[in-house]
Amino acid sequence: MGRVRSRQARPDRPGIRWVGGAGARSAMVRRLVRGVVAPLMLVAVLTVASACGPARPAATPSPLPASASALAARLTQVVATGDRAGFDALFPASDDTPAPAAASPAASGIAASAGRRDLLWTNLRALASVTFEAGPDAGTLRVAWTVGPPDVAPAWQLVDGVVCGTGGCGLRNLAGMAGEPAPLWVLQPIVVTTSPTSATRPDVAVIWDGTGPDVWLAAAQAGVQAVQAADLSGLDDPSGAPAGLVVEVPESYTAFQGQLGQNGADFVWTGALTWTLDSGLPPAAVSGTPDRSDGASWHTPAAAVRVVVNPSGTTSLTASQRAALLAHEAVHVATAGHPAASGRTWVAEGLAELVGLTQDAQLASQSQAQARAACGPGGLTPPSDASFAGGDAERQDASYAVSWQLLTLLRAHEPAAQAQRDIVALWDASDASAAVLTDLAAWSSAWCAAR
Ligand SMILES: [Zn+2]
Repeated sequence: MGRVRSRQARPDRPGIRWVGGAGARSAMVRRLVRGVVAPLMLVAVLTVASACGPARPAATPSPLPASASALAARLTQVVATGDRAGFDALFPASDDTPAPAAASPAASGIAASAGRRDLLWTNLRALASVTFEAGPDAGTLRVAWTVGPPDVAPAWQLVDGVVCGTGGCGLRNLAGMAGEPAPLWVLQPIVVTTSPTSATRPDVAVIWDGTGPDVWLAAAQAGVQAVQAADLSGLDDPSGAPAGLVVEVPESYTAFQGQLGQNGADFVWTGALTWTLDSGLPPAAVSGTPDRSDGASWHTPAAAVRVVVNPSGTTSLTASQRAALLAHEAVHVATAGHPAASGRTWVAEGLAELVGLTQDAQLASQSQAQARAACGPGGLTPPSDASFAGGDAERQDASYAVSWQLLTLLRAHEPAAQAQRDIVALWDASDASAAVLTDLAAWSSAWCAAR
């Protein structure tokens, strides 16, 4: 329910240097990759032979891609074509080389075992698309990945594990970087479950570990249907494209923290969150997270907007509670291109609750009781942005409840179309919102007095 920004500052870190292998291992590496390299050598020789410049000695053929960019291209290709042998050949140092001294503390410092490579391969092949590029630092790659139609743009993230040296560039592993959001597929086994294709229903995908009952797909379908039935006009994609939903369900709290790339303490009380996966977006790309600076009402996010479920605390939810949770997050996904103005988080959260609580009557009556408990002499006070963050669960709960109740009162007092225009005014903090706030103060005072 809380949302996190995926971009964050991070200190420079030393790159991972390739540790040159001893003779026996180098020979083994050459043997492993010869089949891949031979056609490339032929091209290189022909190029040199036809050059008109002064004679140069032929370059020594490299058994591994010569650069991180070339490695990224080959990795992309072997995954796309299902070339498992080609994939394994990119891990020359995996079995017998100690971790380089400058390795990051992340899992990339540990050479991938055969089992680890199996896991990565299976996970990569479960994705709908995946493209690698050289990363911003030595040892890193950018990865852009999708799981199917609900992803309107790829998730862009950074991974670690490249080692380059005189022999070329290879992989020690594919792993998350310390302090950076990690793809779920480097953290655990994944399968991708998608909803049956339907002309009238937005697409849904769930990324999870495939064990136990598949409880989140139905919740995700209920969530997008609740959003479809709601009026989000003025806040969602003006092209009318239905917003699909991709839900990531980490298998453990450890995996959840790995996805966030940070300590999860602030999210202990968060059932799920919606974010833009843009931490690895190339610098030339437009900003991944839309801002409001140019006044336009909609910016299509440049990277995937997805929901992450917090596995701790959601295991005991009922089916309708799960549906309420994902309907709430699906509103955030549908409105991701139109962020709420500063100070108006309560409007975004209140609208998400308006849609979410249609899925569970008991949660709605609990929210009503919590809002009543928050009544003051002037009625209900719109919560500050800060009251939705931090570790105070009771304060957060009350903030959601008050926001929901305020927008519930707005809808009760105005015709539907007018209520939606006023919600947009509140969301944008436009001049028209001052009068709406005055009305809300009066309506909530009367509602509080009538208890
Ligand atoms: Zn929320």
